Amino acid sequence: MKTLKIAIQKSGRLNEKSVELLKNCGLNFENYKSSLISPVSNFPLEILFLRDDDIPEYVQDGIADLGIVGENVIQETEVEVSYLQRLGFGKCSLKIAVPNNNDIQNLSDLNGKAIATTYPVILGKFLQQQGIQSDIRTISGSVEISPGLGLSDAICDLVSTGGTLKSNGLKPFADVMSSEAVLIGCKTIEDNHLVQELIQRIQSVLRAKETKYVVLNVHRDNLDAVTALLPGVKSPSVVSLAEPDWVAVHTVIPERDFWDRISQLKQAGAQGIVVMPIEKIIL
Ligand code: ATP
Ligand code: ZN
Repeated sequence: MKTLKIAIQKSGRLNEKSVELLKNCGLNFENYKSSLISPVSNFPLEILFLRDDDIPEYVQDGIADLGIVGENVIQETEVEVSYLQRLGFGKCSLKIAVPNNNDIQNLSDLNGKAIATTYPVILGKFLQQQGIQSDIRTISGSVEISPGLGLSDAICDLVSTGGTLKSNGLKPFADVMSSEAVLIGCKTIEDNHLVQELIQRIQSVLRAKETKYVVLNVHRDNLDAVTALLPGVKSPSVVSLAEPDWVAVHTVIPERDFWDRISQLKQAGAQGIVVMPIEKIIL
């Protein structure tokens, strides 16, 4: 069987979460910072540790079969790869930001202005769509200090909390794209059964992350009201208790509306609610 290769970031914002995801998929490997390649002992897979900027091209050229990288890097490198799975981490936005004390009010005010960025391709396309002609200044890092140094009127950079912008006297002005980490594959690899197996494992880990396992006690009189609030994977399990009029209800509920759901359950008569994390959900 051919051993697959997956490229992940060697160090940086995506490294830890990428390693964690693969480990949660049951893959056993050493995460030595010094090595470029690490074999997985219990799956025909090798992990390549690379700079994130190199990952899309390695995957496009088939040097790696799969890769985990931010959508921003894929779009900027304009490669031909397949998007296999969004991964829910590394979320950020590429934004145009301007100095706080600035007369730029509308997008059209960027006409003729200099914008510093490490994302000239994405920014160029965005400005073209908006019919704006700016002077794009491509720099390789520390974009946020360029207006202060008089190198540009605005910047286009990745933002997650906005803290870096604020501390450099900048404010977000326009959204160019939003991004998260994705699993990509080279065009010929999608149907490979090992890739399918890996995608299924990843999906089961992601599904589990989005849900919690809940056990609660309820009087039989209130059981219908409580179960009406519970989706479950199929439906909740109801288990008898030693106390004849009471039952325990086991179910999974989505993380996103968790606290609302819990308070509705309490109002409907649920008691002794125990909430547990789920490791995997295999459908
Ligand atoms: P490398 O050494 O691999 O080239 P890098 O310095 O280019 O690393 P990082 O700063 O580690 O890259 O960011 C990697 C990815 O993390 C980004 O491409 C983006 O998809 C995502 N990301 C999430 N939040 C942010 C943020 N606030 N700033 C920058 N990138 C972010
Ligand atoms: Zn990089």
